[in-house]
Amino acid sequence: MAVKRRTKIVATLGPATNTPEVLDSLIEAGVDMVRLNFSHGEASEHIALAETVRNRARAYGHQVGVLADLQGPKIRIARFKDGKIMLEEGAAFVLDVGLDKDAGDVHQVGVDYEALPQDVKRGDSLLLDDGRIVLWVEEVEGSRVVCKVTIGGTLSNNKGINRQGGGLSAEALTEKDKADLISAVEMKADYIAVSFPRSAADIEYARELVEAAGGECGIIAKIERAEAIEVIDEIIEASDGVMVARGDLGVEVGDAALPPLQKHIILRARRLNRVVITATQMMESMIENAIPTRAEVFDVANAVLDGTDAVMLSGETAVGKYPVKVIEAVNRVCLQAEQQPSIRESNHRIRSEFYKVDEAIAMSAMYMANHLEVKAIATLTETGSTPLWMSRISSGIPIFALTPHVATRRKVTLYRGVYPVSFAMDHSNHAALNLEVVNELQRRGVVRDGDLVIITKGDLEKEGSTNALKLVRVGDMVQPKENDTVYGS
Ligand code: PEP
Repeated sequence: MAVKRRTKIVATLGPATNTPEVLDSLIEAGVDMVRLNFSHGEASEHIALAETVRNRARAYGHQVGVLADLQGPKIRIARFKDGKIMLEEGAAFVLDVGLDKDAGDVHQVGVDYEALPQDVKRGDSLLLDDGRIVLWVEEVEGSRVVCKVTIGGTLSNNKGINRQGGGLSAEALTEKDKADLISAVEMKADYIAVSFPRSAADIEYARELVEAAGGECGIIAKIERAEAIEVIDEIIEASDGVMVARGDLGVEVGDAALPPLQKHIILRARRLNRVVITATQMMESMIENAIPTRAEVFDVANAVLDGTDAVMLSGETAVGKYPVKVIEAVNRVCLQAEQQPSIRESNHRIRSEFYKVDEAIAMSAMYMANHLEVKAIATLTETGSTPLWMSRISSGIPIFALTPHVATRRKVTLYRGVYPVSFAMDHSNHAALNLEVVNELQRRGVVRDGDLVIITKGDLEKEGSTNALKLVRVGDMVQPKENDTVYGS
C-alpha cells in the first residue's frame, strides 16, 4: 500500500501548463487543486480551463479542486514611453496620478490608484516591484508624490506598489473583482481567494456577493496586508480558509517578519477550524532549474511541519520550465516531512469543550485513531465538516471523506490528510453500510484483512447528523441479513 501524501498541492495554471499533455502530467503527478489567477487572462479562458481540468482529472479517477484567485486592488505604476527605465539611487522620481498612463520616463510615471496622494506622507517608504526598488516620499503636491530613490534599478511597466508597514486604503474588491467573482461562481469554483482583505467585513462582503450570485464557493482570505495581521482571528473566522501570501505580505512587513507570521497564521487557522495554504516562492528557483535548492526543500518541509494544509506553486508551474518536476519535488519533500513523529501527535483541543454531537464524534475518532493502531478513518459526510474537524488534529492516519456530493469531494481536496471518495449511502441498514465502506477501502488498496478501521456516520442523510463512531476489523464484521443489499460490492 503506497503511503499517501497528506499535504495538498495547489498549482497555478499559466502558459507553461496550457497543453493537454502537461495538464495530464500535473494530474498524474498529484496536483490536488489548480489556481486560476484572475490577474492574468480573460474570464472566459478561466471558465473553459476549469472545465478542461475537471474533465481530464475525471479520466484519471482523481478529484481536483479549483481555486479562483481574484486580482484585488494591487496598486500599480502605469507605463513608460520606452517600456522601462533605469532609476539611479539618490535621483528624484515622481509618482503622478494625473499623468498620462503611457507617458512615464526617468523623471515620473503615472499610477492607476487615484487616492495615492491622500494615502502617503513625507517619510513613507514605497516599495515597487516586490521591494526591488524603494522610494522615499519627500512631499505630496496635488496629484504628485515626489520621491527620492533609495534603492535603484530597472523599473518596467505596471509594477506593483506597496507602502512599507501597510496602510494603503484601496477597497479589497474592485469592480473587476466583482465581475470575476461572478465568473468564478459560474465555473463552480470550489474556493474564491480574496486578495488584500483588511478586515472580516471584506470577506463577509465577498460571501454576500457569492451568495447573491447563487454560488457555494468557499472563501479564502489572502493574508498580504500588514493591517490584516492585527485582526487575523476575525478574518480567519469569517473565511473558510486563509492563504499565507508571502509575496505581498513580505513586502509590507519585511521579509524577516515572515517566518514567525507564517507559523502564527497556520496555528490560528487550525485552532479556529479553518484550512490554510502556504504560498509564494516555495520552489522559485525551479522556474529555471530542474531541481530545487536545499533552502527550498527546507521551506516546503517546514511549512509541512508548521501544519499547513497545502503548499502553493505560482510561477513555478504557471511560467516555469519544469511544471511537472516541481510537483514531483514538492510531493517527495512533503512525504518525507510527514514522517516526522512530532506532527503525528496532537494536543489540539485536549482541554476544550465540544459544542456539537458531530464535532464530538470527529474529535473522539481522532483521539482513538492516534492512540490505537488504526489503518484508516472513513467518515460519511454531507458537507465535509466532520473531516474538516478531524483534519485539524495532527495525525498520520488517512481520513477518507465518503460522500455522494461532488461539491463536497472537491472542497475536501484542500484538507490535509483527507481524501475524497465518491460513495452512495443508505443509512437505513448499518451492517450493510459498514461492510460497503470497508469494501470500498479494500478496493482502493487502503486496508486488508485484520486492519482496524474507524467509521463515522449518522442516522440520517443530512447536514450535521453524524452521531455514531464504529470501530471495525476488516474480515471480521457483522454480516447484513440475507435479504439486505450490499450495494456496489
Ligand atoms: C502573494 O503575494 O504571495 C500572493 C500569493 O499573491 P499574488 O501571487 O496573487 O500576488
